[in-house]
This record gives sequence, structure tokens and C-alpha cells, in this order.
Amino acid sequence: MNLPSLKQAKIRGKEDIKIIDNDYVIPNSMKLIGKGKHYFIKTYGCQMNVHDSENIKAILEDMSYSETLNMEDADIIILNTCAIRENAHNKMFGFLGRVKHLKESNPNIICGICGCMAQEEVIVDELKSKYKWVDIVFGTHNIHKLPFILKESMENKHQEIEVYSIEGDVYENIPVKRDSKYKAWVNIMYGCDKFCTYCIVPYTRGKQRSRLPKDIIREVEKLYKDGYKEVTLLGQNVNAYGKDLNIDYTMSDLLKDVALTGIDRVRFITSHPWDFNDKMIDTICEYPNIMPYIHLPLQSGSDRILKLMGRRYTKEEYITLFNKLKSKIKNCAITTDIIVAFPTESEEDFNETLDVVNTCKFDSAFTFIFSKRAGTPAALMEDNLTEEEKNSRLYRLNEVVNKYANLSNQRYLNKTVKVLLEDYSDKEGYLMGYTDTMKLVNVKADKKYLGEIVDVKITMIKTWSMDGILSKKV
Ligand code: SF4
Repeated sequence: MNLPSLKQAKIRGKEDIKIIDNDYVIPNSMKLIGKGKHYFIKTYGCQMNVHDSENIKAILEDMSYSETLNMEDADIIILNTCAIRENAHNKMFGFLGRVKHLKESNPNIICGICGCMAQEEVIVDELKSKYKWVDIVFGTHNIHKLPFILKESMENKHQEIEVYSIEGDVYENIPVKRDSKYKAWVNIMYGCDKFCTYCIVPYTRGKQRSRLPKDIIREVEKLYKDGYKEVTLLGQNVNAYGKDLNIDYTMSDLLKDVALTGIDRVRFITSHPWDFNDKMIDTICEYPNIMPYIHLPLQSGSDRILKLMGRRYTKEEYITLFNKLKSKIKNCAITTDIIVAFPTESEEDFNETLDVVNTCKFDSAFTFIFSKRAGTPAALMEDNLTEEEKNSRLYRLNEVVNKYANLSNQRYLNKTVKVLLEDYSDKEGYLMGYTDTMKLVNVKADKKYLGEIVDVKITMIKTWSMDGILSKKV
């Protein structure tokens, strides 16, 4: 048993990060353990978690399990959790209630918890004391060890908890079962060293550690060869890519090399404004297959709150960067994240945030009320607002954000844009996909166009999506 430790998770040492490419093994006794059996995975949270679930699926299939989308049919149920917000706790434990019910009628069902919540001491303490029937708990650093964790639990019939709060290494050659045949997530780095005062990620995901360029390029080249049209380079703060490697190679070099593979579309998330430099902007301008879409978290428009958040930029610096991106990158769409009601936020501070939204007129924004995460510095700061005031600020912010999201979509009406048709739409007879600027479009089209980048004439605008018809195939 290995338990998480918040104290250990805060440590950032100077040791070089190791690239380990031979640590994924399936013990012989586990290779056929899932024959005729099914797994079900419930994934919460960000794209990083979605991609981790793609790894977990492949590992379970290497043990001969097959996937079911119906939890009632599953022999093994995995909850891949997110710790970014306080209500994640209720969501996970609520879901566990349903799993317990199934386990009561079939005790052979195996239940596993992983992801960011599994890295939290308080959560694991609760699982250990009140949820002894949960069979396995593993963290974000040792997904590739799942076959051994499962083996241990099955053989010894006890709750197996294997969570490490180490700074972390980089593990290569972990299998992946991708959810899409057309677009793929590609991790370029893990962890984060920024320690924004409200954020739990540096504790749950460990020290920043970049994959080697050659491993990333090889992965993208293979995806391109396999017919993939789009890759999204993933990391908590991708702009800091390479800073932990002892080579002269940055995010701008990586973007260039990924673009040169020839893959149709290259995206990247998430960017911290602090690390967004001119060289990166020039590279985005130079390669037409790097998409003109940037997610640039603002978080707050008040310099005082930004300082308390530990964000390392001012309102003015953010707006300067925003304007530079807009003026240099042709037709660039920019979305953002905003937190309202951060501890001590005054009405004036909130108005500063509204001011930035009115200045930048974002294409869209993910907006949140501040959520206290135990162990982070912001959790100890004064909570000065009532629930009513917090909700009112979120409501007022959303009104403004929605207005600009709608206006930004209006510009597309009757225009022809390129869309990668990636799936069936909820609308009968329609497929769905995204423009280069990450606008969701439902397109009236035959399923034979799935996986293709097509020209679409936009015929109807809504706040969060658009409708269109095929113009001509590219
Ligand atoms: S840069 Fe992002 S992931 Fe890192 S601490 Fe700040 S908010 Fe969290």
C-alpha cells in the first residue's frame, strides 16, 4: 500500500527527470484475466483525464477485457476523477453509491478509483475508512502499473491502494485506445510548477516534466500515417514545454516540428499567458496547419486578485498579449477561463474583470465561482462573499460572455469555412465538427464525409454552435 502525501506532493527537487520506456508489462497470469469480461470507465474533468482514460482502456484490453458503455454489464468499473472543483467530491461519492448497489447484487464486480482525486490525502482516507469495498485506488503517476495493482487486489482480496506523491518521471510506450479515428490527444508534458494559489493540479499531477521531442514527433507521424487529421498537444501549461529538458528546444520548436509532419491540423492546450512568447506567435503565423485558436486563461481582470492568485501577469500585460495575438494571427479566435468570487474579491475587482471581457470580447469563456481546494494557499484566504453575491457575479459575467460569444458567431453567417467532420450530431441527418477556430458546427451531410475536412456554408447561428450545409469537398 502506498498512500498520497500532500507534503510530499509540494516538493520540487533538482533531480533530472527520467524517461522510462520499458516499465509497462502485463504479468503472464493477467494476460487473459478479462476474457469474456467487460470494463466500464466513467471519466470526469479535463482532456488530460480523457486521454488517461484512453490509456486505461488499452491496458484493460491488453488483459483481454472489452469495453461496455453500459455500467450494469461491467465486470470492472473504473472512475477516473477530477479534483479541480469542490463539487467533484459529491459527484464521485454519489456515483460510488450506484456502483455499491451493483456490487451488492454481484460481489465479483471490481471497482477502481483513479485520477486527481485519488492523489488527495483526504479522499483516500475516506475511501480507506468508509468505502472498504472499493477494490483498487491508483493515482496519476502509475496508470501503467494497473495490471499489477489489479493482480494484487484479486489475489489477496483486499483493498489495494497505490498512490505516489512523487515528483514524477515520464513513462513512454503506454498503450492507448483512442476515442476518435480522426483527432487525437498527444501529451507533450505532465505536471505543473506554476502553483497558482487556487489550483490543486501541481499537487495531483506533480512536477513539470516534458516528453522528449523525438517521442512526440514519432507519435504524431504515426497518427498521420494512420489517417488522423488533427492532433491536440496536451499539457497543463504547454507554453512552458521544454523548460525542464536540458536541451535548447522550446514550444515554438515543437510546434514547428509537429506542423512539419504534414498533419492537417495542430492544436494545443492549455496556455499560460506568462510563457507565451513572440517566437511561438511567429511559428503559429508561419504554418497554416497550426490552427488559429488559442485558449488563454485570464482568471481575473483585477491586478490585486491576479497577484493573490499567483498568476504572474497584470491586466495590462494580458490585454497587450491578447491584442498581439489578434493582430498577428489571421482570423484568430481566443477563449478564456474566468474565476469569480476569489477570496476578498470586491465589486471593483469584479468590475475590472468585466472590463477585460468588454475589451477582449472573447469568442467564449469557461466561467466558475471560486472553489476552495484543501491544501492550496487560497483555501486559507478570507471568503468575503455570500452565496447570493457569488451567484450574482457569475450571472452578470455570463450575460456579458454570452453576448460576445453570440456576436463572434454572427460573423460566420453565410460564410464558407472548413470543418473536420468528426462524429454524428444529436440532430438527425447531421454530422458535427469544428472549424479551424474551434467553433462547433452541425452540418447536414452524409456519413461518408465522416473524418473529412469539408467546406461548409454557415446557415444558422446560435450562441454555442452553428448549422451549415456542405459547400464543396476540399
Ligand atoms: S498554470 Fe494552470 S495547472 Fe498550473 S497551477 Fe496555474 S492554473 Fe493550475
